[in-house]
Amino acid sequence: MKAVVCQNAELSVADLPEPAPGRGQVRLSVARCGICGSDLHARHGMDDWADVTAQAGYDRLGRSNEPVVFGHEFSGEVAEYGTGCKGELPTGTPVVALPLIRNDGAVDGVGLSAHAPGAYAEQLIVQESLMLPVPNGLPSDVAALTEPMAVAWHAVRRGEVGRRQVAIVIGCGPVGLGVILMLKAKGVRTVVASDFSPGRRALAKAVGADVVVDPAEESPYSAAGDRGHVEDIPSVLELAVGTREKLGRLPVGWWHVWRVAEKLGAAPKHPVIFECVGVPGVIESIIDSAPLFSRVVVVGVCVGPDRFKPAMAINKEIDLRFVIGYTPLEFRDTLQMLAEGEVNPRPLITGEVGLEGVDAAFAALADPERHAKVLIDPASAAAEPQPAGR
Ligand SMILES: [Zn+2]
Repeated sequence: MKAVVCQNAELSVADLPEPAPGRGQVRLSVARCGICGSDLHARHGMDDWADVTAQAGYDRLGRSNEPVVFGHEFSGEVAEYGTGCKGELPTGTPVVALPLIRNDGAVDGVGLSAHAPGAYAEQLIVQESLMLPVPNGLPSDVAALTEPMAVAWHAVRRGEVGRRQVAIVIGCGPVGLGVILMLKAKGVRTVVASDFSPGRRALAKAVGADVVVDPAEESPYSAAGDRGHVEDIPSVLELAVGTREKLGRLPVGWWHVWRVAEKLGAAPKHPVIFECVGVPGVIESIIDSAPLFSRVVVVGVCVGPDRFKPAMAINKEIDLRFVIGYTPLEFRDTLQMLAEGEVNPRPLITGEVGLEGVDAAFAALADPERHAKVLIDPASAAAEPQPAGR
């Protein structure tokens, strides 16, 4: 079978033996596979990422000198079952799968490890227990977005955004666009999207952002108008003293009223901010400019060191959260949302390419005006990204 192998930062199409499913595993023929921002990074920076991951106890991530087949955002069809499978889905059934697989007593990330080749290929092996049939005739290109959309769904859930809260999405690449889609699916009324690129801002509008700003011209933190957020330290000091004074005029002890109000959820209003850029300096710029008490959910993956001033985050009592991946339940629910039409990520798909064109697609993805998500179609001969939906 044909596959794209990355080794020493070179992408090349290779003829590999057809993979054989092990116990509890299934061979899929790949229908579509998304090119992820982490693949773009991994091509040049696998080692620093593998070092960080090894520090946390997982030492099987790909190294730049190893041959790695990328591809963790895929859809396909059931082709062959290994031993010990339930085999409930007939051959040819359209499926997606979580990109995790059991190997030699470990669990590997499919498409991120030399031990678990991914879907930049005609065939790949998945774990049967992590495979899901694609319902409702959902097209294979949209089904391939289940994985990145599950990342967005997990981030939105971890953000605990209320419908009346303002959500602010910093960076409108595929991750930010996915987060916007999932925020709107969750019923969040005001979603502000911010990106320097006009092309990305147009996509943010297309997937449902309510307010779209160019951060060079306008602050995303005030773009939704006055929402009662606490903007500076004098305001929070006034709020504390003023509230105490007001409650002191009541005939009951102010502390009783305060405690009841806390129990009922009274707290200073704040936005939830999603960092979807992942380059050094972005977390600091958010902490410096965000309203007090903001919750910041870091979704963008910055592998290198970064810096910010803790005292600024402390002064503002910023609630900083980091997220990765999703649970099998979130993955399943995301597929369901796509299949039911509750979320339509089709605007993200800006191009399709064959295996021979993956190198060209990586180059094209460097320009945010041209592309968001490019899908690989292993059956296509396209050596350059073609407009999607052809
Ligand atoms: Zn990804």
